Amino acid sequence: SLPKLPVFEAIARHDPNSTAVIHSRSGRRFQYGELLGDVAKVRNQLYEKAGRDDIDGERIAFLVENSYDYVVTLLAILAAKSIAVPLSPAFPASELQYIINHSAALMLLASNRFTPKAQEVLKTELDAEPTFVQLNKFEGGSAHQKITLEKTGPGAAGMMLYTSGTTNRPKGVLIPQAAMNAQARSLVQAWEYSPSDHLLHVLPLHHIHGTINAIFTPLFAGSAIEFLFPFNADMVWKRFATPFLNPEQRYDPETSGQEKITFFTAVPTIYSRLLSTHKGLDPEMQSATRTAISPANLRLSISGSAALPTPIKRAWAELSGGNVLLERFGMTEVGMALSCGLDVKDRVDGSVGWPLPGVEARLVDVDTHQVIEKGQERDADGRERVGEIQLRGPTIFAEYWRNPDATTKEFVESKDGKGMWFKTGDVAVRRPVEGAGKSDAASQKDWTRGDMYFILGRRSADIIKSGGEKVSALEVEREMLALPQVAEVAVLAVPSGKWGQKVGAVVILDKEHCTKWTPLEMRRALKDKMASYKIPQVLRVVDHIPRNAMGKINKKMLVKEVFQDDFS
Ligand code: ATP
Ligand code: MG
Repeated sequence: SLPKLPVFEAIARHDPNSTAVIHSRSGRRFQYGELLGDVAKVRNQLYEKAGRDDIDGERIAFLVENSYDYVVTLLAILAAKSIAVPLSPAFPASELQYIINHSAALMLLASNRFTPKAQEVLKTELDAEPTFVQLNKFEGGSAHQKITLEKTGPGAAGMMLYTSGTTNRPKGVLIPQAAMNAQARSLVQAWEYSPSDHLLHVLPLHHIHGTINAIFTPLFAGSAIEFLFPFNADMVWKRFATPFLNPEQRYDPETSGQEKITFFTAVPTIYSRLLSTHKGLDPEMQSATRTAISPANLRLSISGSAALPTPIKRAWAELSGGNVLLERFGMTEVGMALSCGLDVKDRVDGSVGWPLPGVEARLVDVDTHQVIEKGQERDADGRERVGEIQLRGPTIFAEYWRNPDATTKEFVESKDGKGMWFKTGDVAVRRPVEGAGKSDAASQKDWTRGDMYFILGRRSADIIKSGGEKVSALEVEREMLALPQVAEVAVLAVPSGKWGQKVGAVVILDKEHCTKWTPLEMRRALKDKMASYKIPQVLRVVDHIPRNAMGKINKKMLVKEVFQDDFS
């Protein structure tokens, strides 16, 4: 038997013969009916290796490829009421060492494939002494086994995810299972995951995007999850096209998923890769993929983890014949917090929409530290007030692991006694948008109502204070990306004796339109697009802008690298 966790109750309710997981490359399929039996097997293996069955709250780190086995392992750790700490196989040994030590992992689990990697880490000097467990591979097609769920409710289990480390060393974020459940319920309601959804999964599995949004939530809803990893644009196109091609041209005619993809979620850099690769496909593939991603077939394509450049959004809509990317805002500490709506008119360029069901959001003025109440979005001079996004609700994390100072620092007491607010560190404005959202907020279910949120960026890195003015790096980036000369851009705060900070731009040129660009030409191109104090004062043209696995830029590092002279 297994504990009565909400996710297990949901899985037990799904049609046992429906597909839970598919491996794109081999075509292996696993059904909902076999999942809980396999979860029980691995959970028992954990108890056996630990030599006890009270490993509640212990951290269990695991290195497993994107596969059915990953799903089983994650659920088995939850079943043991332990804390799942997924590791990325892309991490160097030193990073794995850091996480194993920091989480004080009781066990380190590894699939066959990653056993050498795990053993390499175990050979190094570790503070933690995790028991090593090699996991057996599941081949699929195992007999459906009736698993009973115990009467008791969930224990203390959950996940510990490390932040992307964009601004600092990754922080261990403890996400209690109750928060995971609340996040999944919120997303099922907002994005309407269902048993008829077939999700194509191309993301790494050590961040919230790949785990909660693209595994845990679909499991709740009974959707099929198809893993195609690592991301490869040609293969993704081929997979999208498969149901729309002749049998001999298909992805893998014998075994691969033949169902059409209805649900896709990715980061902006992935959409950008897909768009640029599409031009090189042969005409038949071009047409099949367009059909595949048209709104009639691909029900929902979502972007998040970093700001979505409007040119990417437009190009995707054009290519697909009207599939408008749905942008949302989330972070490791809170899961998904703000999201545009399912209605196409609710996917407004540059906006991340409204607080998701169950999430309470507010903006706190970065200058006055006052809450920006509804109707106070502009100051006495009519200027937009910029506020930090603060959040609360059942989806929020519990604590930064072994870092009570950071936890204390990031939460603020509330005046209404309804719980603490979490300070996201991201700043935004709220604007009314004509025609978007529901004007008559009739029912509680109408979460798409009122003013919409527009992210301006991270308080620490994207708000540039230049000569008494505040400039949002994200806004400048958005305008610059609309120029034909610019392929990629990062706008940064460069130290300046005169201004405090000046606006700097690091640009990759769009070679089709421009091979050389001077600061003067840049300023001319931006003259009519934005106030003069927002126009970058310095420009560097580069061939490459470093990003982490989720497509994010560490601006603190980049600015020092590119504008060395200004730091001396
Ligand atoms: P670290 O906290 O270690 O510096 P990180 O903040 O990048 O890394 P994550 O929790 O993975 O780690 O990312 C959350 C951040 O991603 C948010 O705080 C926000 O800055 C950014 N983000 C997510 N979605 C969006 C979006 N739609 N638009 C703009 N920024 C986004
Ligand atoms: Mg962060």
